[in-house]
Amino acid sequence: MKVAFVASEAFPFAKVGGLADVIGSLPQALRKQGLEPTIFLPWYWGIQGYYVGEAWFNFEGGREKIGIGHAEHDGVRYVLVGLGDFARDKPYGYPDDFRRFVRFAMATAELLGDFDVVHAHDWQAALLPLLRNLGWFKARTVYTIHNLAYQGVWGSQDFYAWTRLPGETYYGAGLEHHGSVNLMKAGIVNADAVTTVSPRYAWEITTPEGGEGLDGVLRSHQGKLRGILNGLDTDYWNPATDKYLKYHYDATSLAGKASNRAELLAEFSLEDRPTLGVVSRFAHQKGIDLIGDAVDGLLGMGVNLVVLGSGEPGLERTFAWMASHLPGRMAYVQGYNEALAHRIYAGCDGFLMPSRFEPCGLAQLIAMRYGTPPIVRAVGGLLDTVKHWETGFMFDSMDAGGVLHGVSEFLKHPDRDLVARNAMQADFSWDKPAKEYVSLYRQLLG
Ligand code: ADP
Repeated sequence: MKVAFVASEAFPFAKVGGLADVIGSLPQALRKQGLEPTIFLPWYWGIQGYYVGEAWFNFEGGREKIGIGHAEHDGVRYVLVGLGDFARDKPYGYPDDFRRFVRFAMATAELLGDFDVVHAHDWQAALLPLLRNLGWFKARTVYTIHNLAYQGVWGSQDFYAWTRLPGETYYGAGLEHHGSVNLMKAGIVNADAVTTVSPRYAWEITTPEGGEGLDGVLRSHQGKLRGILNGLDTDYWNPATDKYLKYHYDATSLAGKASNRAELLAEFSLEDRPTLGVVSRFAHQKGIDLIGDAVDGLLGMGVNLVVLGSGEPGLERTFAWMASHLPGRMAYVQGYNEALAHRIYAGCDGFLMPSRFEPCGLAQLIAMRYGTPPIVRAVGGLLDTVKHWETGFMFDSMDAGGVLHGVSEFLKHPDRDLVARNAMQADFSWDKPAKEYVSLYRQLLG
């Protein structure tokens, strides 16, 4: 069975969030099940690959040529799809993102001739199931929603001018949604199977509260929708071997964790108090503003905060301002920083994740793996992975009061080391989810 993954991020080549972790680690787990998936990734600047030739595809009414590269990571083969003038140094954040990924999907479709299963991820690859239905390639298609909030929406005039797809696809193949082209919707409608990254989120997205305007579409395709919980690359995220940590540890002895903690407190000149970490994109979804609203209360309860993240500029400014006024109690580092993220996961006493919604969430899994009980809002994948009072702490209310309640539960627990050890022993490996994907592929191939 030949399986192709098509996605816009893959660790370590290009990472913005959890999608990269999944695409960088699920193929490894599939290899353990006997598959050899190939990953199709845009060839962003800076990705080291071997140029292997060029491919032609139709775009904007003409034949266009793009460069194709190969790369390998941990035995997994990557095909790097050149974007020509649309290549950039990072995946997103450009005004022409929509057009870039439509090109990516159309160019990739030309390369999928000998695959049995094409597994497309998120809106950037969502056009592929529709292209298969138009006969561009033959594979069975799986479409995975990693985050329903980003749908790939654009005006239909541009879309049809660029793709020259038959106009009847607008209504006939599910591209139209409220008067615009919506790639996420087309992915859902046209794929043979649709998955999302936790069972709870699979249900939430069929409700008006969680459906981001697509709950009706998802309800009418519920028969082919299922939730498969994400796993973690437990070799990479391992406090016993982590190359970014000075002291290693495991569930049998937390002494190394205490040493990492002392280093972290010294690094940011923090007082010796229970210290909560945050490693996150600064997006509305993540509820970072709720932490901002709760800061006075949190300090009053006696905890420190170490925050790493970037995104919404207003939030970045607020956090920088607060940290500069709260020496000894709060640290904020703006940006993406892999090494510091590891030190925070290992060195903190608790990990805050007050998400408004959370498809699966990997940060809380990493925190648990590092013996740092997560304090999370009871939503989506957080509900499926954290056990209140046992491996972490949960709160309901989507406001500062909720955050404070969660932290008070954390502070109240009589044996936080026990919670830390429970969390470290929970199984978040890819073994079980990988088997579920394999059985889904087999089912589709009959
Ligand atoms: P999402 O995919 O919605 O951003 P997840 O919790 O699924 O959230 O995954 C986030 C991933 O990105 C985790 O691996 C987390 O450690 C990492 N991450 C987020 N922000 C940063 C940052 N500023 N620096 C380093 N790693 C980060």
